[in-house]
Amino acid sequence: MSQNNWQELEQKLFLRTINRVPVTLVRGKGALAWDDQGKEYLDFVGGWAVNSLGHCPPVVVKALEKQAKTLIQASNQFYTIPQIELAQLLIGHSCLDRVFFCNSGAEANEGAMKLARRYGKLRLHGAYEILTTYSSFHGRTLAMTAATGQSKFQEPYIPLPDGFINVEYNNVEAIKRATSEQTCAVVLEPVQGEGGVNIPGDDYLQKVQDWCREKGILFILDEVQTGVGRTGTLFAYEQYGVEPDIMTLAKGLGSGVPIGAFLAKEEASVFSPGEHGSTFGGNPLVCAAAYATLKYIIDHKIPGKVKRVGNYFLTRLESLKQQFDFITEVRGRGLLIALEFNQEIAEKLVLACIDRGLLVNNVKPNALRFMPPLIITEKEVDKAIGILRDVLEEMRNPKH
Ligand SMILES: *Cc1c(COP(=O)(O)O)cnc(C)c1O
Repeated sequence: MSQNNWQELEQKLFLRTINRVPVTLVRGKGALAWDDQGKEYLDFVGGWAVNSLGHCPPVVVKALEKQAKTLIQASNQFYTIPQIELAQLLIGHSCLDRVFFCNSGAEANEGAMKLARRYGKLRLHGAYEILTTYSSFHGRTLAMTAATGQSKFQEPYIPLPDGFINVEYNNVEAIKRATSEQTCAVVLEPVQGEGGVNIPGDDYLQKVQDWCREKGILFILDEVQTGVGRTGTLFAYEQYGVEPDIMTLAKGLGSGVPIGAFLAKEEASVFSPGEHGSTFGGNPLVCAAAYATLKYIIDHKIPGKVKRVGNYFLTRLESLKQQFDFITEVRGRGLLIALEFNQEIAEKLVLACIDRGLLVNNVKPNALRFMPPLIITEKEVDKAIGILRDVLEEMRNPKH
């Protein structure tokens, strides 16, 4: 079937929740992907910051093959070994003590916030309100839509579940002002991903943590996007000298198999049996993939490489900024990077990049986001920069 036919079928068969770009991907290897016409792309979208080790990493493929032949699903009525091994690895390398596995980022956050509500009920005289920030993104369930402080996600669904208050990001005073007797937790992204790669001041997380400790409320970090090496440390909180009471993970954890997790300190682990659960969560297949991914990232010291290559990428983008006056900002941490413009040209740039064999994301109408695999090389960064430069040049001097 031709490319157009697949894409026409999609238009007919699917609920219209997204306008996809006109590329039908059929295969991937490392940082490369191919469409159904055989065209090759350098992939700086990375499955939306999911493909930590690139497409089809051999260690993960091997783990999946082995587990698929052994045990795929058993339910959480039983003990299964891959989820216990994954739990050991996560807890051994983080400041948290206990874990719950689920299937996505939204579910991880939903679970974390349910845990915060239990904590409020049991330890804080029934406090239930959760503070989150503008421009945040916490997922698409109804409750996480209320937690996500962006009106474009909220307005279609009003009235939203109660108990979420959105305040300004990178503003400790806003959090202090919104805190009341009813507050049980604050939830933050260490770097806002979907909101446009927004990086807070160096002391913001520390100050929010101090405030939470002072008030006895939970300090929760949504590391669904920043976790598992993306920002240059295994977890982003390590760079800010803080320790969350609860942390959520998903995107980069499983190399593309659907897995999410929330982890909690012992003091915050207040669930009793029956209060939360999942049919697929932590099944042996996804846990084997996540274990292989995480083990590789730890054993091969990938976060350090992310920091190095990420800084190199930032430097190269800075030099592009010198050449094109419509670039207003370059910002990022590790391999979570954005390029912002003084015009709404991001969609046009995405299409022009596709033409030249580079996949990038238009995170905002006026900003591109780069989330390449964590194993990307400087040479591949150079190649992407070359394509970007050509595309920006063409934007400046359009051919008529
Ligand atoms: C992507 C994302 C989510 C939602 O994850 P899904 O797997 O799409 O449900 C939540 N929080 C953050 C920070 C994210 O980047």
